[in-house]
Amino acid sequence: MRRVSRRKFLATGSAALGALPLIRSAEAFAQTADAGFRHGVASGDPLGDRVILWTRVTPKSPAGSQTVSWQVARDPKFGQIVSRGEAQTGASRDFTVKVDVPGLEPGTTYYYRFELLGARSAIGRTRTLPREGVSRLRLGVVSCSNLPQGYFNAYACLAKRADLDAVLHLGDYIYEYANKRYGDGTKLGRIPAPHKEIVALQDYRERHAQYKADADSQEIHRQHPFIVTWDDHEFTNNAWKGGAENHDPDNGEGDWTVRRAAAVQAYYEWMPIREDAQTKQARIYRAFRFGDLATLVMLDTRLVGRDEQALRDDTASIDRPARQLLGAEQEGWLAEQLVTSVRNKTNWKLLGQQVMFAPQTAQGARAGNPDSWDGYRAARARVFDMIERAKLGNLAVLTGDVHSSWAYDLPRDPFAGYDKSSGKGSMGVEFAGTSVSSPSSVGSEGEQQLAGLRAARPHLHYVDGRYRGYFVLDLTRERLQADFYAVATILDRTTSERFEKGFVTASGANHLVEATTPAPTAAAPDPAP
Ligand code: FE
Ligand code: CA
Repeated sequence: MRRVSRRKFLATGSAALGALPLIRSAEAFAQTADAGFRHGVASGDPLGDRVILWTRVTPKSPAGSQTVSWQVARDPKFGQIVSRGEAQTGASRDFTVKVDVPGLEPGTTYYYRFELLGARSAIGRTRTLPREGVSRLRLGVVSCSNLPQGYFNAYACLAKRADLDAVLHLGDYIYEYANKRYGDGTKLGRIPAPHKEIVALQDYRERHAQYKADADSQEIHRQHPFIVTWDDHEFTNNAWKGGAENHDPDNGEGDWTVRRAAAVQAYYEWMPIREDAQTKQARIYRAFRFGDLATLVMLDTRLVGRDEQALRDDTASIDRPARQLLGAEQEGWLAEQLVTSVRNKTNWKLLGQQVMFAPQTAQGARAGNPDSWDGYRAARARVFDMIERAKLGNLAVLTGDVHSSWAYDLPRDPFAGYDKSSGKGSMGVEFAGTSVSSPSSVGSEGEQQLAGLRAARPHLHYVDGRYRGYFVLDLTRERLQADFYAVATILDRTTSERFEKGFVTASGANHLVEATTPAPTAAAPDPAP
């Protein structure tokens, strides 16, 4: 694949600072890059006192173990180093390195780097979660980054936004297909590696490595901590707990549990997510607290509890009370999180998750998309029950998967007892973000098609699938706003973008209103040089 050279990449950042020593270190880095850190650096899962740092060593020979040293500083020149240490890696974890750095200050920006045998990694920037007095929060939200389909310009745009507290990736971080099964990367030189559908551990590792070699992926990870969850394509299409639409055990793809374990292992190796030894296999639902301004609950609607997808007309299955999307254990955990957020007087409750939550059809009718919550109506009703019981309010569901932008009010039944203009009957809001690069046909037939969708769904304020991009979620005590941004193209590398639409809900309203201008940018610490 075509890459922007690391050297050019770093030199650009250094030039902006006009600091000679940094330019020299960038050149030194370029000379040793092949033996050093070809997949960049990343950070993730920030808490008030710690954060995960990640890198991957490119070994001269793929054997033995490597000792990598790391440093964390308050400044981008590493004048004030606050923490340092060493980490071991080797073939058993594909030479990836993960450090959970403790003892940090809340709501603070840090810079970090790794070193191996004199070779230095790029400098990364990260930020811990704030604990008190949080008046504002800005999060970048992305999903569905499919390499052969185009450039990750949405990543490049978010990397330039220095005022974000974190980036959420809501899944489909990689795609499993062979070239031409879902996008043809030949023209752009973005042919998926290995050159086949990924099934075994080595395949998943190689695919993750290819995505992490992408220059825009490296830059967004370098500038922001990530909070991730997986969707289906980190495994294979339309995965559920016992299999997947795109998994065929009789066609050389073997046992589902083996494939799933391989995908989980590679994900943990290559993603800056905190690992819990006790719950390592597949438990990634977890929560993040941004003081009393917001709680972010990250769900797993794919692997731990999901029953198999039903056909969209099979309403008997769809409405079966025992049917699960989260699974009983995660459901109980979610209820606890919501109750706790109310007890803590947390202003906003964010649910980061994969598939569309808002009802798409009337109660008892066929499902809209049976892979979404629409195909698991009893499970969705139980979440509405939780919201009611906890007297929650100020809920925002954040969704990936659909490759198109959507903004909804969240009434239990949009077709009865809900008023679109006042929002009466709504229990929260939902924003689904468009894809980084995966395609959509929503809106391809023009404005009329989109207006038809809005007319058919009274709680739907906005839908458009005609652009790729991301959204920024901006929270204050008084309001929560989502700003949808479109990248100009994904067929060239560019950071040209435009503001498409913004929607805001006032605290206590649970009701979306269009915002005419995007939320203002915030003061920002220096980007990583
Ligand atoms: Fe996707
Ligand atoms: Ca998906």
